Amino acid sequence: MKLEVISRPQLDANAINRFLEAEGMNWRHTAGATPAEELVELAGRICYMSFGKRQSPKTNAEYIANLVEMGHESVLEHVCWTFVLVGVSRAFTHQLVRHRVGFAFSQLSQQYHDETDAEFIEPAYLSQYPTARAAWLDAMQVSKASYRKILDSLAEMENKHKAQIDKREIRRAIKSVARSVLPNATESKIVVTANARALRYFLRVRGTIPGDLEMREIAAAMLTAVSADAPALFADFSIDHWPDGPVIIFRGKNQAESNSLG
Ligand SMILES: Cc1cc2nc3c(=O)[nH]c(=O)nc-3n(C[C@H](O)[C@H](O)[C@H](O)COP(=O)(O)OP(=O)(O)OC[C@H]3O[C@@H](n4cnc5c(N)ncnc54)[C@H](O)[C@@H]3O)c2cc1C
Repeated sequence: MKLEVISRPQLDANAINRFLEAEGMNWRHTAGATPAEELVELAGRICYMSFGKRQSPKTNAEYIANLVEMGHESVLEHVCWTFVLVGVSRAFTHQLVRHRVGFAFSQLSQQYHDETDAEFIEPAYLSQYPTARAAWLDAMQVSKASYRKILDSLAEMENKHKAQIDKREIRRAIKSVARSVLPNATESKIVVTANARALRYFLRVRGTIPGDLEMREIAAAMLTAVSADAPALFADFSIDHWPDGPVIIFRGKNQAESNSLG
């Protein structure tokens, strides 16, 4: 699995200063606060216009911790990251795309992309069980061979239907038939955009599941990436290590909910 952050939060300091000047307000910044952290603080402060004399002595991290504690989490939605994930299984991406709120996805299409050379992501623990692994490897091979055979056998569909159906759609239909034999282990690539609030929820419910190492590894990689950009937004999360791999520990509110799912 490889995760890259391809887009991260940034601020336009000049535009912010123009806004503050027009409002006659002065904002005391916390030294070292990151663009993501400042964006959340700014959005929160605009709700109450708590600048200048109305600004409390709280640091940026304290201000954000207070927002989260109060449940005023919509301000966290202004901050987004975009990741590209490669070397992940379709089993994982199917679970990922169930997250409907605050996420956007763009995934490699099996209807357009030829999967003849697709890789398969070996599930965790299989390497310790040779008999199971041999059965798994056989199944992958059969699936790949069947995929190719179906594509080749259906190639004639293109000529047969070209008068009635657009060529592109015939090809889509052929690949749709062929892809139906590909397993959940098939490697996929997916672009994921998520805001900080949605990510916090995702990390809580997905980063703690004992029997899903692939999910835990990806959740931990996401947390590592976003924590580097915005430590204050994820201060109540940390990564621990179980014998098989990473696990996310959440110490904030709703701890019971996350533990019961885990
Ligand atoms: C341990 C575990 C086991 C699971 N097992 C299964 C399973 O066996 N079968 C299965 O199908 N799925 C399963 N899921 C997936 C799960 O049901 C969710 O689809 C997935 O986790 C996304 O969560 P969500 O809907 O809360 O997230 P999102 O869609 O991102 O929603 C975030 C939050 O917004 C609110 N929300 C979103 N949509 C609505 C709505 N329409 N109405 C009201 N409130 C809304 C809710 O508060 C929700 O929690 C499992 C998930 C976990 C973590």
